[in-house]
Amino acid sequence: MNIPNIDLPRIVVIGCGFAGLKFCKKADSSKFQIVLLDKNNFHTFQPLLYQVATSGLEADSIVYPIRKIFKGKKNFYFRMTKTRKIDSGTKTVHTNLGPLEYDYLVVATGATTNFFGLKNIEKLAMPMKSIVESLNLRSLIIQNFEEALNTQDLDERERLMNFVIVGAGPTGIELAGALSELRTHILPKDYPDLDIRRMQIHIVEAADRVLAAMSQFASKKSEDYLKKRDIHVWTSTLVKDFDGDCVFTDKKNLYAKTVIWAAGIKGDSPISPNFKRTRSERILVDEYNAIKGQEKIYAIGDIAQIESKTYPKGNAMLASVAEQQGKQLAKNFNRLAVKKEMKPFVYFDKGTMATIGRNKAVVDLPKFSFGGILGWFTWMFVHLMLLVDYRNRMIVFINWVWSYINYDRGTRLIIRRFSPKTYTPETEVEEVD
Ligand SMILES: Cc1cc2nc3c(=O)[nH]c(=O)nc-3n(C[C@H](O)[C@H](O)[C@H](O)COP(=O)(O)OP(=O)(O)OC[C@H]3O[C@@H](n4cnc5c(N)ncnc54)[C@H](O)[C@@H]3O)c2cc1C
Repeated sequence: MNIPNIDLPRIVVIGCGFAGLKFCKKADSSKFQIVLLDKNNFHTFQPLLYQVATSGLEADSIVYPIRKIFKGKKNFYFRMTKTRKIDSGTKTVHTNLGPLEYDYLVVATGATTNFFGLKNIEKLAMPMKSIVESLNLRSLIIQNFEEALNTQDLDERERLMNFVIVGAGPTGIELAGALSELRTHILPKDYPDLDIRRMQIHIVEAADRVLAAMSQFASKKSEDYLKKRDIHVWTSTLVKDFDGDCVFTDKKNLYAKTVIWAAGIKGDSPISPNFKRTRSERILVDEYNAIKGQEKIYAIGDIAQIESKTYPKGNAMLASVAEQQGKQLAKNFNRLAVKKEMKPFVYFDKGTMATIGRNKAVVDLPKFSFGGILGWFTWMFVHLMLLVDYRNRMIVFINWVWSYINYDRGTRLIIRRFSPKTYTPETEVEEVD
């Protein structure tokens, strides 16, 4: 990999998501050599993936080149490569570019979609965890309407126009809201010869309420918003199977060609047989984010689980948790460098929120909750401010204002045709081999 050996301890960081990025920004590179590895050469702002999938934003506005973020940082090296395996015995990570030794290792590889062993769903449903998957979904949505125009079979036409979203967490309901906006404002104009009123959007949830991780207020309000937007909400309903035309649940069969899987995630780390993991494949760490039973190896963000009194099952898999852990661990390394004690991680809960299309959102703050248009402006402001730099913020802001005034979504493009039946993730650029 051509990384020079210098007389500073080397920290290898795997993953430039919210946690890895924050860590590398805050770690003092005059005290450590920092080597960041990521399979992509960009950082992805996942909370807005659903807007890329529903033609609201260009992909470029929510991803950012890693090299640009760290331009000028001394003793810092980035390599675009997938890490395959961690060997804690020899303190080496094995990557597609070859092995690399570390003094300290920080695993920040995030999470991946959990299909809970449902093989057909894994093959045929659409996950939305990366920019590539969002673009695939965007293509498929528009392809469906192009195909619906050309079929004489009325059932087939409806199956093409129907969408089933599995999982009514923030991702599921945000997607449902965006699809309903397409149905109301965009598709009738794009496809005047299709009866778009027949398009159905279903959201299926195993729990007994939508947004089950948020307050009762947020659940109730968002369910009202979904229903007002003519979205069918199926709570306490388990999806069993999907054959490409029909979703089989324990209550009802839903006919649709497109199933979007937003029902679960699990930790995603390179092979590392000695790490203790939870049932959802997260790595167990202590309050300093040190991996239990390992020396000088840390995990931060979605992949890490700190079990504390306040959060006995670990913190939620959220960007804010990942950023705070990244920042805290970097500060701890900086303290270590000047022989000070590390401080334990304590999560500062700033609240959670979700939007359900134009003028509608729910916000849970630690002490109170609110919704409606105020919630929506809060949601937009917070998401704009969280984007990596001014350019991205500007592009997203202009897109949002344009869409709001014109009831338009600018990127209804099929750049590359997509078929769930023939797709294998290994063919994607992000799986650099
Ligand atoms: C659709 C969606 C919407 C969301 N909305 C919200 C929201 O509104 N609010 C909120 O707080 N959170 C939201 N989240 C969750 C939030 O995005 C995650 O909690 C956050 O991204 C976790 O950060 P991380 O750094 O742990 O992992 P990630 O951001 O996932 O980053 C992991 C990085 O590791 C890299 N990587 C993975 N494996 C390897 C490997 N083997 N080798 C090299 N590199 C590797 C990846 O390329 C990636 O860059 C959302 C997530 C999704 C998917």
